[in-house]
Amino acid sequence: TAMLEVAELRHSYGSFTAVQDLTFTVATGELACIVGPSGCGKSTLLRCIAGLIKPTDGTVSLHGDLIERTPSDLAVVFQDYSRSLFPWLSVRGNVEFPLRSRGIGKSERRRRSAEALEWVGLSGAGAKYPWQLSGGMQQRVSIARALACQPSLLLMDEPFASVDAQTRFELEDLLLRVRHEHSSTVLLVTHDIDESVYLGDRVLVLSKSPASIVADLTVDLPAE
Ligand code: ADP
Ligand code: ADP
Repeated sequence: TAMLEVAELRHSYGSFTAVQDLTFTVATGELACIVGPSGCGKSTLLRCIAGLIKPTDGTVSLHGDLIERTPSDLAVVFQDYSRSLFPWLSVRGNVEFPLRSRGIGKSERRRRSAEALEWVGLSGAGAKYPWQLSGGMQQRVSIARALACQPSLLLMDEPFASVDAQTRFELEDLLLRVRHEHSSTVLLVTHDIDESVYLGDRVLVLSKSPASIVADLTVDLPAE
């Protein structure tokens, strides 16, 4: 069954069309990567799916419900971790923040934040503040925060593009591990074709701006 359904999506900024006529679905449990050149409209597409901007035309549905505002069973990880964490909250406070706004009680928040921080290898860092952490660690916190929400759909916008190569490999493998353990549904956009093939069960290739799908590939690599 489709977790996400994007139908004839178009988005224009004034007279400039960034995304054009996009139609695709993401099945429950799938890790789909969207790959395309910089500036082709990937972030625009993700923002439309996240309900952060309203598409000019077309529809986005999450398990059958039209997305109007950001649904609470969706979480997003952005490239720019330095702007995504609250500097005045501890690591634990950051991870628990969206749980608090979802009305989840304190003991459950503690349980989920501890679990998510363990997944990303930051068990000992709950009391630290973002500025005390390296960039790669801050991005781990952003990922922990998204995972703690246990979203039906995890959206990731170039999540590993701003971390060093070693951290990137670790976080990629972390994503693969967590998604296998939890059968998460993930839609990740990247400009890196290697990354999309390494991570994705499926790779949707976008054209240059305005983005439209030029290939929809199922990745089925032989086991090593
Ligand atoms: P990508 O994520 O693939 O790099 P974006 O979705 O960020 O692409 O941008 C697609 C195109 O839309 C680019 O040409 C960009 O300059 C333009 N664009 C993005 N955001 C805005 C905006 N808020 N206003 C006008 N143009 C924008
Ligand atoms: P291993 O078989 O031990 O995973 P690899 O040589 O396949 O060794 O990869 C080493 C690390 O590099 C992997 O753990 C993975 O995180 C990362 N990696 C491998 N291939 C890619 C790729 N195409 N894109 C991004 N990261 C990759």
